[in-house]
Amino acid sequence: MTRSITILGATGSVGASTLDLVRRNRAEWRIEALTAHSNVAELAKLAREFGAGVAVIADEARLGELKEALAGSGVEAAAGRAALCEAASRPADIVMAAIVGCAGLAPVMAAIEQGSTVALANKEALVSAGEVMTAAVEKHGATLLPVDSEHNAIFQCLQGGRLDEVRTITLTASGGPLRLVDDLDAVTPEQAIAHPNWDMGAKISVDSATMFNKGLELIEAHHLFPVGLDKIRIVVHPQSVIHSMVEYRDGSTLAQLGPSDMRVPIASCLAYPARMDTPMAPLDLPAIGELSFFHPDEDRFPATRLARQAAEAGGAAPATLNAANEVAVAAFLAGKIKFSRIALLVEAVLNAGNMSAAPRSLDEVLEIDAGARRAAEALMETA
Ligand code: NAD
Ligand code: MG
Repeated sequence: MTRSITILGATGSVGASTLDLVRRNRAEWRIEALTAHSNVAELAKLAREFGAGVAVIADEARLGELKEALAGSGVEAAAGRAALCEAASRPADIVMAAIVGCAGLAPVMAAIEQGSTVALANKEALVSAGEVMTAAVEKHGATLLPVDSEHNAIFQCLQGGRLDEVRTITLTASGGPLRLVDDLDAVTPEQAIAHPNWDMGAKISVDSATMFNKGLELIEAHHLFPVGLDKIRIVVHPQSVIHSMVEYRDGSTLAQLGPSDMRVPIASCLAYPARMDTPMAPLDLPAIGELSFFHPDEDRFPATRLARQAAEAGGAAPATLNAANEVAVAAFLAGKIKFSRIALLVEAVLNAGNMSAAPRSLDEVLEIDAGARRAAEALMETA
């Protein structure tokens, strides 16, 4: 029996890994919709290859170009933010949410409002919307399957377990490419995105270097697995073999291990609750030799501390932290600010505003996001 899938962010790293698995099991899948930000050529190529129902480019100005690239293919072309949400709300057996940043939030919410099964890679959407998203999942009977490798690991370790019997959840962190680098002021974008274990998009690679990725993941875990923030720990594990762990009240700790390749957690979502083949080589533990673990150094990398504080404060703080970080990362990648300024800027934006009002709707989340972006831009100009 074929199953249908929509991939939001099909031209990105997670999008490509998802399409690789679909390609290997071609007869089992029908592609409902593929979306991308601005790369018309790549989107059209993928839409033709997979015979997608519709291809959507977020950049409205490129609709003509997309129509031209799809001429004669039978694939419908659409553009703009409303078209992204329309594509996300089409009936599909699974929607892969792999847009980067809060830009993915409205489409994710559109899929949730249809009661869909959403494989969520787009952590920024959940961090920003928090309870607005989890309440919508509940209200519309949607299902969130975590794609993020740590959360997918925790999800797997919780099968057959109960949240009220969990003593702790431990998120593992590779520590990123700069864990042992002395001068963080001198770090270039090339160094920051050269991740030792994972091949990912530029934004999440910088987030791994600052440890904001783990900070966002802490907030993501807090919403996906509501055991209480005090029970969620972070441990640095440079080999990225254990993807996270769950400790139960009887002293048993379950861990999920695997190669650092996103096709493993993606496959677990695509096949859930069954399993599917992937091209991964078996895990060779003797070849890996040793697994090591360290406490995170929050003096050098304050991001996890800032994220924990934002999660504890609640209100507008998580969406603000996320938006300020998105602006700071883009500025760093554009060569406008130094690496060490990213966390300082996020902290300054959090301290500059009143964080007490929690968003109650998607529009309110987007307002907080926009306000935090303006504040971050303004603070960048003044310092
Ligand atoms: P990427 O930059 O490689 O791809 C992002 C995708 O989103 C592209 O298809 C791009 O066209 C699209 N996009 C970007 N901006 C957009 C916008 N404004 N509107 C509409 N579409 C837009 O990113 P990625 O590394 O694949 O990451 C995607 C998401 O998955 C992120 O939230 C990331 O944190 C999460 N994630 C990624 C990995 C990984 O290994 N890459 C692992 C875990 C979680
Ligand atoms: Mg992760």
